Amino acid sequence: MTRVLVTGAGGFIGHHLVSYLVQRGYWVRGVDLKLPEFAPTDAQEFLQLDLRSWENCLAATAGVDQVYALAANMGGIGFIETNKAVIVRDNTLINMHTIEAARQNGVGRLLYTSSACIYPGYRQNSPDVTPLRESDAYPADPEDGYGWEKLYMERTCRHYTEDFGLETRVVRFHNIYGPLGTYDGGREKSPAAICRKVAMAEPEDTIEVWGDGEQTRSYCYIDDCVEGIYRLMRSEHREPLNLGTDELISINGLVDMVATIAGKRISKQYDLTKPQGVRGRNSDNTELRRVLGWEPSVVLGEGMARTYEWIEAQVQTACSPTGAYSASA
Ligand code: NAD
Repeated sequence: MTRVLVTGAGGFIGHHLVSYLVQRGYWVRGVDLKLPEFAPTDAQEFLQLDLRSWENCLAATAGVDQVYALAANMGGIGFIETNKAVIVRDNTLINMHTIEAARQNGVGRLLYTSSACIYPGYRQNSPDVTPLRESDAYPADPEDGYGWEKLYMERTCRHYTEDFGLETRVVRFHNIYGPLGTYDGGREKSPAAICRKVAMAEPEDTIEVWGDGEQTRSYCYIDDCVEGIYRLMRSEHREPLNLGTDELISINGLVDMVATIAGKRISKQYDLTKPQGVRGRNSDNTELRRVLGWEPSVVLGEGMARTYEWIEAQVQTACSPTGAYSASA
């Protein structure tokens, strides 16, 4: 039985990945600061550890064949724009200790979870953006803070492979969404935030939109995400690989889509003072198709319907007579 470690197993993607791997017959150790918030873990072993600590990384990586490194201090644009020092400090410690501990413990393979935030700002200035190919990462000008740390760790993975023979895989996620993800509290991302705002709205209501809503993104459903991670880990591809869809939509379009799913008439009030990130971002999946012979298949309308259904149920529960719902929009 292959033994794997999933770091960040108490988080959104890590939790789903643990279930996926256990279903495929892997023995899984999950590690995180916290237990999963919304459902019990399927991991055979779950350790609550702070992976900024070297000793904890040594303990976490002991006796496993593979590491899926997902732990990170992160959140949506509102969080990463305003916590740069903390993000860079925490994630550097987590990732550098994890990869070195994996090496010292003789781990065979490590998959690092990077981000579309590593792509240069100068290629993302228009809503009508050209999809980003893996080679577009350089000359570098990533998202300040969070993106720089991701790009630096991508390089670190490459050096560990070249100099120490540790097999590394690097995936660049493009906006992963789905049920069991953070939907309030300040760390949520746009699909979850929009679902929450619409779920809390009256049948005819106005919700706040960050920026002018013309900024564009593509989104990848969680089931496709874990399948892609798994396929990449098993492949022999050592270069960073996009994992996303190329179904581009504006934030305004996403709000309209969720309103239709909810059956509500929603108007938008724009707050131009709020961070909105790059103007446009899309994934070029040419390399993904070539390397994995596969690409995500869940269309946005279907994935958002499943996500809205889950978030609406959470909001309903939180609004139940046991206490008023207090999350700010
Ligand atoms: P998440 O915040 O839900 O999960 C990250 C987990 O890491 C959290 O449960 C958190 O408690 C844990 N963690 C943070 N600090 C830790 C520490 N010191 N020790 C141990 N655990 C710690 O995020 P996610 O969406 O599941 O993202 C997983 C990975 O994918 C992250 O590395 C993230 O940067 C990357 N990523 C995600 C997206 C996305 O759209 N969700 C996009 C690009 C990249």
